[in-house]
Amino acid sequence: MRVFQKITIGMLILSIGALVWYHFKGDTKMITISPEQYQYYAADDKKVGGISEAVLVEKNGKPSMRCAMKKGKYAWPYCELAIHLSDSVFEGIDLSSYSKLILDIDYKSADPNGRLRVYLRNSNPIYTKRNDEASLKFNGVEYEPGFNAGPKEIALSDFQVLTWWIADYKVPVEHTTPEFTNISIIEIATPSTVTNGDFEMTINSIELRGSWIRENTLLKIILYMWLVIIIGYVVHEQKRLSRSLKASAYREGRLRKLNDVLKEKNVEFAELAHRDSLTGARNRNAVRDWLDQMSQQVRWGKQTFSVIYIDIDYFKKINDKLGHQIGDDILREFVLVVASAIKNTDFLVRWGGEEFIVFCPNHNVQQAAEKAEHIRRTVEHHLWCHNESLTCSLGVAEMKDERISEVIARADDALYKAKNAGRNRVITSANIMGTNDSLRFRN
Ligand code: GH3
Ligand code: MG
Ligand code: MG
Repeated sequence: MRVFQKITIGMLILSIGALVWYHFKGDTKMITISPEQYQYYAADDKKVGGISEAVLVEKNGKPSMRCAMKKGKYAWPYCELAIHLSDSVFEGIDLSSYSKLILDIDYKSADPNGRLRVYLRNSNPIYTKRNDEASLKFNGVEYEPGFNAGPKEIALSDFQVLTWWIADYKVPVEHTTPEFTNISIIEIATPSTVTNGDFEMTINSIELRGSWIRENTLLKIILYMWLVIIIGYVVHEQKRLSRSLKASAYREGRLRKLNDVLKEKNVEFAELAHRDSLTGARNRNAVRDWLDQMSQQVRWGKQTFSVIYIDIDYFKKINDKLGHQIGDDILREFVLVVASAIKNTDFLVRWGGEEFIVFCPNHNVQQAAEKAEHIRRTVEHHLWCHNESLTCSLGVAEMKDERISEVIARADDALYKAKNAGRNRVITSANIMGTNDSLRFRN
């Protein structure tokens, strides 16, 4: 399997796994605010000139604040329960990843509204002054807890910053929104309406719930990972494509070169196949097809065609006397001499050893015999490389209604006769109605 298929399948499993996990477990992050872990305090308006009294007591093992609210000189009497989340009010804990505050409070109120104020106090050096606890931001909400009513959820997004606090502390506008990054105190206070009488709030439980990761963040991470894979895949494919294009262009170039070389070699081999390697004269292969055509033309009466069979006289003696090497040189020279004595429409073929045939299209027996005589004379009068005289005997035959092998056999026959008659001569074979007359040239 290709790497990208594996990565895609892996990524698919990871994405589905992450979404399933988020659905079932994503929002299970939780803090319980209990008196075992955090400091609980009761506070009243005495420190600002009021006469209300708040005390913290234990009721059925739960922290409970009792308040005797009295209107004195202070205009807004209150009692409150403050829970400190850290030792210093300026260094709190980050609750920004939580989305809900869940309060289970049993509340007895002299006020018929039955509401409580809840503040999450945030410290930030931008607006918090070290010597002034009131400069902690008031992220606040009011709600009605009821009595024995069970837990109530308050979304952190429902909290609002108190406007008097913004005004008093001249908070820059960009810091006037709720902030939960450094919460040091949770305050639960009596409502802003002033009612004399007894209040009691018993804290059964306080919890904060949130997500390990925001849904948006998770979706963004998954999306970015897919984008990275897609971009990686595209880049990889691009590279692979350009590599394979280069490779195929290179292969094509090499094949073309190879093809050219093969073509050249083919021509060379074809040439070689049709040439005798010692003398450079044509060999039998070179004329095979051409002879078939010729014999057809003769048979249809379209043209005359004659054969001159040549054999060097006493060649064996030359070999014996001067050596095989010189013998070869003479064979090469012989080809050049005979070639000079014929036309380029004639075909000189080395038939074997020191025997040659000149095929003469458009020659009747007479014309061929004259050509044979011309060859004989040329050979006889040539000054040979071994500085001795050299002669040859020739048999001539014109093709009639017969096979090519038959006319060659008749020429060979005539040659045999020329040898027997003393060599260095031309004998012509005539094949008319079965007779075999011989025409003879004498030197
Ligand atoms: P004749 O007049 O009866 O033809 O006599 P001859 O000696 O030419 O006849 P023969 O056929 O007996 O001998 C032909 C010789 O040609 C024998 C062989 O050694 C020689 N020969 C054949 N092919 C080659 C060749 O390629 N190179 C050389 N150097 N000699 C060759
Ligand atoms: Mg011979
Ligand atoms: Mg010979």
